Amino acid sequence: MAKSPYRPFTPKPEQMALMPETSGNTINGMGEEEFRRASHIYWQDPDTIEHGKLQKWFYTQDPDNPVIARAREERAEVLDIEIPPISGEPLQQSAEDWSRQLAAYAATRELELFGIAALKPEWTYEGETLDYRWIIMLGVAHDYEQMKTAPEAPAGAEVVRQYGRASKACKDITTWIRQRGWDAVPHAGPMAGALLMVPPALECGFGELGKHGSIINRDYGSSFRLAAVLTNVPLVPRRDKANYHVDDFCSRCQVCANACPPEAIGSEKVVVRGKSKWYVNFDKCIPFFNEHFGCGICIVVCPWSKPGRGSRIVEQLKRRAQRQKVQQWKK
Ligand code: SF4
Ligand code: SF4
Repeated sequence: MAKSPYRPFTPKPEQMALMPETSGNTINGMGEEEFRRASHIYWQDPDTIEHGKLQKWFYTQDPDNPVIARAREERAEVLDIEIPPISGEPLQQSAEDWSRQLAAYAATRELELFGIAALKPEWTYEGETLDYRWIIMLGVAHDYEQMKTAPEAPAGAEVVRQYGRASKACKDITTWIRQRGWDAVPHAGPMAGALLMVPPALECGFGELGKHGSIINRDYGSSFRLAAVLTNVPLVPRRDKANYHVDDFCSRCQVCANACPPEAIGSEKVVVRGKSKWYVNFDKCIPFFNEHFGCGICIVVCPWSKPGRGSRIVEQLKRRAQRQKVQQWKK
């Protein structure tokens, strides 16, 4: 196993004293064979979740760190921007026209990934409902040079900055829809609220799920954040082609698992709420995450996250698949 300067990791006793009796893996449904919707676990109102004390503790760590404080101030300016109410008669036009105009507007905003999917009930947490028909997914890329400092403060600050950028893009799109007489609501992290964002992002073809539990995109690897806008405006799905054979790549790669200080990333898939998938051990990850500005090591060490690398990997994987086909024909 590769050496990590952050190993061995022993969590601070004051943090572990806040760890609830219920394992986060149990809440997440690890080992459950039957499908059920996900339960709230983190980035929620802390008074409503088992790990709420841990979530609060995260914000007590190095609160005066100047780079984090500056990034939080920048994001606060975005969060203060008011979204106008719905105005005028609802514009009536075809779903195709709406989608085309929306995509053209989104292309003028600060975001890197854009997609549209019909909202599914299973994309909300247990006990939640969202009364919207469509979800517009957005992705904003990190500055890789900043992320390379993970798990130190500049990487944590970059994540905060990108959440701010994602929030601005969401608010712009929400405003654009409301000005045309239709309801829309923005949804940007880090708070999870009612919505799971990874499944709709996968549906929009933003990428495929990697061993480290994050989406891998061909152009940005895992170095990006998600946001969404919910609306009832008539739309048509808009999906990028995914299938870069990430699953195959991850099954032969151990880079993130070796680099993760608390060894939270499993080398085999496990069944989670009825589905076999790569899984990150919540109980191991969260103490390190909390003590290290949100960590991010697994995102940045992933070869796909290195700028320009993803498209080369895709080509390599294509050639490999072709060679395998030829070998099969010869048999
Ligand atoms: S974020 Fe969690 S899973 Fe990823 S490297 Fe850090 S501790 Fe490990
Ligand atoms: S580091 Fe390797 S195993 Fe981990 S997610 Fe990236 S490609 Fe997959």
